[in-house]
This record gives sequence, C-alpha cells and structure tokens, in this order.
Amino acid sequence: MLEPARFNELKISGNLPSPKGTVLKVMQLSEHNNVPLPELIAALNTDPVMIGRLLKVANSAAFVRSRPAVALTPDVLMSIGLNTVHQVALTFALVAEYRRGQCKAFDYDRHWSRALACGAAMQQLGMQLRLAPAGELFTLGIMSTIGQLSMATLHPDAYSELIREHGHPYDPLMSEAESQLFGYTHLEVAAALLRDWGLPAMFCEAVSHQEAPETLRQPENSRTARLTRCLQLANRMAELFLLSGEFRVQRYADLKKQAIQLDIDIGHFARLCDEALREWRDWNAQLGIASPDEEPFAVLERRQAIAPRQESPDNEQEAMHILVVEDEPSQRLLLRRLLELLGHRVDVAANGQEAFELVVQQPPQVVITDLAMPEMDGLELIRKLRATPAGRQLYIIVLTVLDDEDSLEEVFGSGADDFISKPIPPRILQARLLAGQRIIQEQRNLLMQQEQLKRHLEALSIDNQMAQEAAQTDGLTGLYNRRYAMRYLPQVWEEARRSQQPLTALMLDIDYFKQVNDEQGHDVGDAILQELAGILRMLCRRSDVICRFGGEEFLILLPDTRLNTGIQVAERIRTTVAGHAMVTAQQTQRITVSIGVAEMQGDHANIESLIKAADQALYRAKRSGRNRVESAD
Ligand code: GH3
Ligand code: MG
Ligand code: MG
Ligand code: MG
Repeated sequence: MLEPARFNELKISGNLPSPKGTVLKVMQLSEHNNVPLPELIAALNTDPVMIGRLLKVANSAAFVRSRPAVALTPDVLMSIGLNTVHQVALTFALVAEYRRGQCKAFDYDRHWSRALACGAAMQQLGMQLRLAPAGELFTLGIMSTIGQLSMATLHPDAYSELIREHGHPYDPLMSEAESQLFGYTHLEVAAALLRDWGLPAMFCEAVSHQEAPETLRQPENSRTARLTRCLQLANRMAELFLLSGEFRVQRYADLKKQAIQLDIDIGHFARLCDEALREWRDWNAQLGIASPDEEPFAVLERRQAIAPRQESPDNEQEAMHILVVEDEPSQRLLLRRLLELLGHRVDVAANGQEAFELVVQQPPQVVITDLAMPEMDGLELIRKLRATPAGRQLYIIVLTVLDDEDSLEEVFGSGADDFISKPIPPRILQARLLAGQRIIQEQRNLLMQQEQLKRHLEALSIDNQMAQEAAQTDGLTGLYNRRYAMRYLPQVWEEARRSQQPLTALMLDIDYFKQVNDEQGHDVGDAILQELAGILRMLCRRSDVICRFGGEEFLILLPDTRLNTGIQVAERIRTTVAGHAMVTAQQTQRITVSIGVAEMQGDHANIESLIKAADQALYRAKRSGRNRVESAD
C-alpha cells in the first residue's frame, strides 16, 4: 500500500514526475473559485507549443465547432471547458519534461506514444458510451500510464532491472514484483499523483483498478466501473496499435469480443479503432515519433470476413480436456492411452483427493472416475466436486465393475452424469464421450444465453439511469430543469440551514430576448441560450447549482456564499456576457442580462421565499434600465 505519508516523502524527494513553469501557473489559476480568464490565457500564451496542442484538442472531431479555432480566446477556452484545459496542459507539460530520463531499459518515446494511443482510444470509447467530456477522456487515457513513468524516475536502476526481467514495463506481473521491491505499485503511484493534481476521484479509482476491474468495489454499471473497464480496453487497444501481422489480427478479434461486453456498438468497432489510430498518428507526428504503417482495421476486418474459416470435419470429435481418476496403475495407463488416441488431452489422478486438487487448479471438461479407491473414493469425490461452482459444470462418468441397480442408484444420487462398466470397450467409450460433449455444448449455450440476458438487463438499467438524468436536465442547455430544481433545491436549503452556512441565489433573465427571436429567428435564440449556459457553467464553481428556470431565465444557487460575493459573481457574469460576441450559424450577436441577487435570511421560511427575493431584485434591475445587477436589501 502507498500510504499518504510515504507518498509525501516521494514527492519531497523531487523524483516524482511533476509539471513545471507554465503549467504550474495554469494549475494554480484553475484552483481559483473564479478562474481569472485573462490571466489564464496570458499564462498559456507564454508557451507556443502548449497553444498548438490546446488548439489541436479544440479542433479535434470530438468538439463540434462551427469554424476552426485559431487562437486561444475566451470563446475557445469556454468551448473546450476549463477542466480539459487544465488536464491537457498538465499532460503535455509532462510529455515535454520527460522525453528522456535515467532509466536505461525504459523507452521514453515508446512510453509516450503508447500513452497517446491509449488517450485516443479512451476518447473514442468513452464518447460512444457517454462517460465524460472528450478532452477529459483523452487525458485520462494518457495519464493512466503515468505510474510506469513514475517508477522510471523514482527507481531508474532497479526498475531497469525489472523491465529487463519482464520484457516490458506493461507486463501484468509487474505489480507484484514492484510491491516486493519498492513496497508499492505503479498503479498506486499513478492514482496518488492524479489525486494530488486534482483530477476527479472517479478517474483516480479507474486508474488504480484498470488492470483488474473486477476488484473495484462498485456496482457493475456505475460510471466508475464502466470507466475502469473502458480504460482497460483502451490500454489493450494501445497495445494492439503497436502490433503487426498475425498478432494484430488475433488481438483485434479478442478486443472486439471485449468491446461487446462494454456495450460498444460492434458494427462500428473497426471505424472507432481507425479513428483512434488516426488521432494517434497525428499526435505521434507532433512529437516526432514514427508510427507503424499498418492497414486500417476496417480493411483488416473485411479481409478476415472473406478469408475461409478453418472448420473441423463433421464426424471428427472435438478434443476435450479429460481427467482420469483410477487407483489401479495399469487401468489408468490403458484408459489414458485410449483417450489420447482419440485426440483428447488427458490428466490422471490416483485417488479422489488428488483429483479434487487437480480440478480446483485447472478444471477439465470431463472427469472419468473409478469408485473404489484409497484416501477418497469416487462417490465422495463427486459429492465434493458438485459442491463447488467449477465442479457443477463438469461432465462426470463413473467406472463400475458390476452394474447392479443398487450401486447405480447411489452413483447417480451422488451427482454423476453417466457410467461405463469395466472392462471398457473403446467404441462404447467414444460413444458415451460424444453424448457427454453434446450435453456440455448445450450447457455452454444456455450459459451464454443467460449471460446475454444479464447484459441486456444491465444495458436496460443503464438506459434507465440515462433517462432519469435526461428527465432532470434541460435538453437544450444540459442544465438542470425547473422540475429538478424544485425537487432538489429544498435539500440545498436544508443543508445550508443545518450547517449554518450562508446561501445566495441569483436570478438571471436575458434582456429584450423576444426581440432577438423576432429579428434573428428562433434557432439563433436557441444557440444563444446554449452559449449562455456554457458561460454560466464556466464562471460558477463545481458546487454551485445552475438551473434553466424558465425560457430565458436562469436560477443559480451559490452555497456557502454571502450576498457581497454573490453580487461579485453576478457582476462577472453580467460583464462577461455583455463583452462576449455570441457565435451563431450566420453571424455574431451581442446580448445583455439582468440579474437579481438575494441571500438567505432568518425570515425566509423556505427556498421559495429566497427565490422570490432574488426575483424581486431582478424586477428592479429590469425597471432601472436592464444590463444591471440588483440585490435584495
Ligand atoms: P425583458 O426580459 O428584457 O423584459 O425582455 P424579453 O423580451 O426578454 O421579455 P420576455 O420575458 O417577455 O420574453 C421572453 C422571450 O424569450 C419570449 C421568447 O421569444 C423567448 N424564449 C423563451 N424561451 C425560449 C427558447 O427556448 N428558445 C428561444 N429561441 N426563445 C425563447
Ligand atoms: Mg479401484
Ligand atoms: Mg423572462
Ligand atoms: Mg427577458
């Protein structure tokens, strides 16, 4: 385990990857409640390479823009979102800082190239599943490999040794070796670093469980769980991008199966991979790293579909894994030979105890067991096996000497599927095995159907969740709608009351909006509402609640905020809107807003009275000429 104290020591040692210069400044500025946009832009503008990369993200297919961004303006920052700006800046600062290093066996360029591939893959996957904004997905993918880089900077020599032993830093067995050697793993360092850099907790969880999503203690269809499985797949896709030849074909087929389980639209998986591949090549080129020249996955898939399938001839029995349990050595050998001759893979055990241990380690498909044996006899073995999950799926055939009805009853009662009497005629053995195989196949089909049903139900519940989210939010702006506000806001109110913290409400209304609609059309009006929502989102803190309260009326609740600060926030909104040219399809359009501000008072009985106070202040702002902020007295 990486304890917080130990992490701090590592941090102080100065050997952990850390951003410097511009990005440090950007990160500090991003922590402000009200991010000072001009300062942020000034800081970013000192780093031309950074500007280029932010613009590339802003212009990537993931962001819908009416025209390409050519400079870092407030509009551009707003459209990509401050979280993304923060994360992209951080990521590329690290890339710039760690292109080389002391760890000899660590290929730094290959590392970054793989990280960028993972970022591009994560972006495509996560967008299709609507897990997070595109830019954040991209950086999450890249950052998911920060643990390996950290190990290289923390322990250049010892980690070099480890890499040589394991072949490469991404070997699944690395964690165990790291734990033994350093007392913590690359995954733990990665999660601790991301937490330290202020990335969302969900991302830290996903990174720390990405190699074994099943260890995450969260509901299967929670966003964190889906993000984690997505990250695992993205990492495998990054690996795939670096493969060639037959390996590439095989791995692609495997990943496609994995993608089905994530509910990725499988008909378009090749296209998704190719899109990620294209983005990745672009980024490689930016860093001056060569990309492998392989055919697109769409081509690979088409070629595979045309290629003839290798199928086994009808009458030939498919090979099975069979365990023979027999205490008599000559019988055991005979049976083994016979089965191997039929093409099966055979393990042997001399008694029930041995057999049970073998099954636990590596379950076969069929067990053929003798009855009378020392240590543990056949009946006890069958009962013990049937009590375990793996044992219930076995096809068990008992070898009997006498087929008297009493013992057969006991044999089937214990859970056996079939019996054969000794001495065993080879053709009977083959026929019984064939019957067994059919039953195994049927069971497998049934299991698969159950799995499909389960996945289907899960998908339904995800749909439900999304439908619920949709019911809470307004379709045009993505902000909370009035219905949600009326249900949720009393809780915010209660919370403030209970903790005796101040609470301030802003009521905002667009000035002369009817006129804009009348002159420019309803579509332009809609576009303006969307852009205004973006501005509000950007100027408010994460903890603030923004609702579209009416047509062009917005309610914003600022928890833990006094009237004076509320007025300042309102002023910022008012001036930002007034100074901002709204970009619509045809032209730019300027609008102004009026805002009323009120703070929760002792004589306010409930949230409605607070909202009413803000509304009255808004009315005064309108009456005194609009484009104004007024507060309740
Ligand atoms: P003021 O608030 O400054 O008094 O003037 P106003 O013109 O904004 O006044 P009013 O509140 O009467 O008009 C609101 C207008 O907002 C009416 C309608 O044209 C427009 N509106 C409301 N909802 C929407 C919407 O969803 N889309 C668009 N495009 N327009 C809307
Ligand atoms: Mg025996
Ligand atoms: Mg109005
Ligand atoms: Mg209005």
